[in-house]
Amino acid sequence: MSLFYSIVPKFRKTSIFSRILPATTYLLPITFADKPPLLAIRKLQPQRIFNGQQLLESGTVLLVDQTGTILDMVPADQAGDNIEILNGWLGPGFINCHCHLELSHMLGVIPEKTGLLSFVKQVMQNREIAEEKQQQAIQIADQQLWNQGVQAVGDISNQTATLSTKLNSPITYHTFIELTGWHPSVAESRYQTALACEQAFASHSLRHSLSPHAPYSVSANLWKKISPHFSHQTITLHNQESADEQLLFERGTGNWPLFYESLGIGHSEFEPTGKSSLQSVLPLMKEATTVLLVHDTFSQAADMQWAQSYHPGICWCICIRANQYIENALPPIAELRSIGARIVVGTDSLASNNSLSILHELYEIQQHFPEVSTPELLTWATYNGAQALQLNESLGSLQPGKRPGILLLNNISDQGQLQQSTQVQRLW
Ligand SMILES: [Zn+2]
Repeated sequence: MSLFYSIVPKFRKTSIFSRILPATTYLLPITFADKPPLLAIRKLQPQRIFNGQQLLESGTVLLVDQTGTILDMVPADQAGDNIEILNGWLGPGFINCHCHLELSHMLGVIPEKTGLLSFVKQVMQNREIAEEKQQQAIQIADQQLWNQGVQAVGDISNQTATLSTKLNSPITYHTFIELTGWHPSVAESRYQTALACEQAFASHSLRHSLSPHAPYSVSANLWKKISPHFSHQTITLHNQESADEQLLFERGTGNWPLFYESLGIGHSEFEPTGKSSLQSVLPLMKEATTVLLVHDTFSQAADMQWAQSYHPGICWCICIRANQYIENALPPIAELRSIGARIVVGTDSLASNNSLSILHELYEIQQHFPEVSTPELLTWATYNGAQALQLNESLGSLQPGKRPGILLLNNISDQGQLQQSTQVQRLW
């Protein structure tokens, strides 16, 4: 690597980079006795390059080595000969900030648009399955994520079922070890289960953090146990996914109390706060570096503004296809954009989506919010996602030295809009 970087800038400075290298695939002329492996370089000129934050001038050429490491971007007239012309936009690999890989066997199991409470109940009833079938579904989902251009995933896990797939995957996973427990009496046992799960991921050096499931499913006792783990971490929370969540926290009413009773879980120890659920629980997550608030379907503008000013590390994760699947609702994208919120994108699980394709999510967002440009959407799904998962040193943008995955997006319209026929092809 160090030898490589000492060579390439010299070629560029003297402008002989392309002239002395004869073929489409270039080999650096290394002839030392203990020579390192030869490094091939490709020069790619797509219709446009999206670097993670913006579209570059057309006519820009991306220089990349055979491992997919970004070397440079130069104007075509400085790139010399043997440039490969590509039809489409080039950009970095996608970051999926919200998934539940362990629910991949639930594709098509739960009917659509039945509301969150019914959905949660059906997940609880259907999540158990023979281990072999679960493992098979997890592996297929992991392969599909990779093939569809996903470079990193923020993945919710309640157990260790996804561990072996994550160990062997080219995808970088950040596992959010999720805790639920509404009745205060189960706090200690749930906490111990999560610690065992954490130990399993830690022993394989897999990225992870403890995270609460949702305001309506974590007791004060459990918050007390997990909050000390949040310092300097990226954590996540299912936020304001139903109107009932607001009613529960503001007044102790709505359908959640009935739901707890139907499950035989008492909730008499819960005291309504008189505030929104977000304002009630965000102070418990203050020590986290980043708090990924997922769904936000029923978030109000005042709440969003309050959260933005309260915590500098707030990210808003949009899972638009899951919102439609579960609640037949749309996320508050216009409001979030109007306050300059940092937005990222997730797919949720195959229990509430029929694919884990980030491109499908972006297309769906643009169908409902055509004012959001494709470069802005791509920023949410690349640069912002990498920053949220604290992976921005290596992923999320096309910068020299990074190996962020390189995608070719075909069939973007002449006006720069995503189309149903837009496809993603992974080059690295
Ligand atoms: Zn989720």
